[in-house]
Parts: sequence; structure tokens; C-alpha cells
Amino acid sequence: MEYDLVIRGGTVVTAVATFLADVAINGAQIAAVGLGLRGRRELDARDKLVIPGGIDPHVHLQYQLPHFRSADDFFSGTRAAALGGTTTVIDFVEPKPQQRMIAALAARRAEAEGQVVIDYGLHMTISPHEMGKLDQVPEAYAAGCASFKLYMAYGMRLTDDQLLRALQAIKQVNGLPVVHAENWDVITALVAQNLAAGRSEPCWHPHSRPALLEAEAASRLIDIATYVGTRVHIFHISCTAVVERLAEAQQRGLPVTGETCPHYLMLNEGVFLRPLPQAARYVCAPPLRTHADQLRLWLALGQGIIHIVTTDHCPFTQAEKAQNLHDYSQIPGGLPGIEARLALLYSYGVRDGYFSLNRWVEMCSTGVAQLFGLRQKGHIAPGYDADLVIFDPQKEVILTTETLHEQVDWTPYEGVTVRGWPTVTLSRGEVIAQDGEFVAQPGRGQFLRRAF
Ligand code: MN
Repeated sequence: MEYDLVIRGGTVVTAVATFLADVAINGAQIAAVGLGLRGRRELDARDKLVIPGGIDPHVHLQYQLPHFRSADDFFSGTRAAALGGTTTVIDFVEPKPQQRMIAALAARRAEAEGQVVIDYGLHMTISPHEMGKLDQVPEAYAAGCASFKLYMAYGMRLTDDQLLRALQAIKQVNGLPVVHAENWDVITALVAQNLAAGRSEPCWHPHSRPALLEAEAASRLIDIATYVGTRVHIFHISCTAVVERLAEAQQRGLPVTGETCPHYLMLNEGVFLRPLPQAARYVCAPPLRTHADQLRLWLALGQGIIHIVTTDHCPFTQAEKAQNLHDYSQIPGGLPGIEARLALLYSYGVRDGYFSLNRWVEMCSTGVAQLFGLRQKGHIAPGYDADLVIFDPQKEVILTTETLHEQVDWTPYEGVTVRGWPTVTLSRGEVIAQDGEFVAQPGRGQFLRRAF
């Protein structure tokens, strides 16, 4: 039997096994995994790893803030993702005050369609003005938004009573709540105190968002979710204090999962010692923490306390980051990172011995698919979508704005060397990136209706 395409001679790595095998593809799906498979087209993967395409369930493409819009759009952002070995992203829907959830979903899909180059899903945001729309949660779920974003910070933050009601509504449909957990009342008070005392430069940003109060918010969230009887996923964990609360909840058998991001693993608050305007680039929330926190996050990934790694990709240009150097609270928050996630975690996680190849695949792909209801994604076996990456474990890349394809004029990983980089990315059986070139058409990505 001859297949449409066979990836020959690679080391297949899944979340549970590592073995030499060919991977055969017919159409958009994996048809067979075995030895001696032949195809009308073949890709040589000798001395390479063959892994399920990365899944990044936390990105903000063309994200509109009141005064800024994130620099990557659905085309440029998903192209960079593809070149870095990511074949699925999940972005967000934010309904306007008078807009139905499914109308907002349709509008966001219209922004992505014609642009997006890999498959994508969307989380539905429940902000205070959705409290009168909780009866629409089943409709949003049925339309494919199986996860719901809740904020405990920013203008979209929910108070505890609102958090309770939102979690109840999500539980009713067996959806997954995903939550930004920080203590907004404390943050606003500390920001006001700092600004009033003239402490207005970016180095004061981490001091106004204490790790202990990130942990307090995570704990409060876990307790309210436990009372409601729902699982919950905690976004962008930055510090030891949250890891401890998460581990304790898991020891009690609670269905609580967490994620961290490459910037919390690779960087720390020392960047705020850099001169202005550079220091302003690193404003994000939760903030970068200490070196000890970085180490604890790496260990927590190895232990499985933190389940997955996402990027929270939300780039702003150097000029945008530099517009409010003397009021750090007005600097648009967010960092780029959609492209180098797999390579950073391979180089500094697998190579440095924090976790295995299989755990790397689990935290970047398989575990993400399971957590977010992506049934066709994240594994190498017959019947799964042929979203695959040929990864060269020896290829060295120095990360710079020249080597990366994110549409932003800086990277937090400038000058960082990674050893291990994708050479071929396939999405539903189609080669979309090869040897650093993006070779597919905008708009080929499909919206993924997710369900549990
Ligand atoms: Mn985010």
C-alpha cells in the first residue's frame, strides 16, 4: 500500500513513548505508524524527532486594547507559530456590552478567516457585562467555545460573587474555566501608593503585583471552584507561591490545572534594572519574578504540578512600550513568544534535565489537546489530524528579531541560543513550513469547535 505522504526514519516522540518509525499520511490524517512504509511523497526524518504539532492555547493576536493593538495579526502570528512548530492556537472572544456571545464569536472568527494559517479555537470571555448573559453560556459552548476566560484583574475583573455565578454557569455545561488570578484590589492600591510617592518607573511594576497576592487569588479561586464543584485551569503561573497552592490542591484530589509561560521560565525581575526605555518592554502580568521562582517553575513542570506551557503571546512594539515610561501602570502589558516555545523548552527543559522528551511533548501538545477538548489533535496515531513537526535536535538558532518571524521589533530572548529547532511543520497533512520558509496560503486554518 502506498500512502500520500510518509515521514521516513524519524524518532517518533509522543507523550508516552519514543521509538523509531515511519509516519504515513493519507489526506489530512495520520494513516499508519510503523516500519517500511512507502509514500508517493516522502520526507526524510533520519536523525530527527517527529512530534505532534505544538498547541498553544493562550495567544492574543490583533488584540485590541483601548489605546493599543497587539502587533501580530492572525496571519503574521500564526505564520510565526507555524515556523516554530505550533499547529494549533486558541485565542479569545470578548463580547461588547450589548453583544450576544455567539455574535461576538462570529465577529472574531471573521477577523481570523482568510488570515489564519493553522487551526485555531477561541475561548469565550466572561467579563462583568456578561453577568446578565450567563444564560448564553450553553449557546457559546455549543458553538465550539468549550472554555471560558475569567479575569480576577483589570477592568474586566470579576468580583467574588460574579466569579461564583460564572463558575456555576460554566459547570452547568461541563465547560472549562480558565482564569487570570491576581488580587486586583491590592494591585490598584499599591499602584496608587507608588505613583503618589513618585515611584512611577517600570521597575515598580513587579512591586505592585506581589507573588503572595497572586497566590491568594489562586487560592480563593480554587476554594470558590471547589465549592461550586467545577474544575479550573489557572493561567500564566509566575511564582513558587502559586505552585505551592496548586500542589496542595492537587494533593487533596481537586481537579485544578495550571500553566506557565516561557518568559517566566527564561527571565526574571532583573530585567527591570536595565535602563529606560528597555526596562519598559518587560511589563506583563503577572510580572516576571525572582530567579528562585524561575527554578521552581522548571521543577514544577517536571513534577507535573504545572501541566502545560503556553505563550500568552501579546506583542507590543518598542515605541508602544515606551509611551508611558513615567507611569508604568499605563504601559501595555504583554510579551512576544509564539514562535520559540518548543525550542526553548527543548533546549532549557529537556537538554538541561528538568523533564523528559515525552513530558516535553505532553506539556506543549498532548496535554493541551486533552485539557482543551481538541480530540483530533496532539497525538501521533492513526485517525489523528496529521499535525506533525520534524524537529532537528542538533540545529542551533540564535534568537533575534532577524531569525524570528513575529511581527514586532524586539524579542525578550534576544541573543539566546537554542539547540533544537523545527525543520518541517505539517498541518492536516500539508507542509506549511520547511527549512525556515513559510510555504502555505493565508486562510487555510480552520476554526475548531471544541467540546468535552
Ligand atoms: Mn493572556
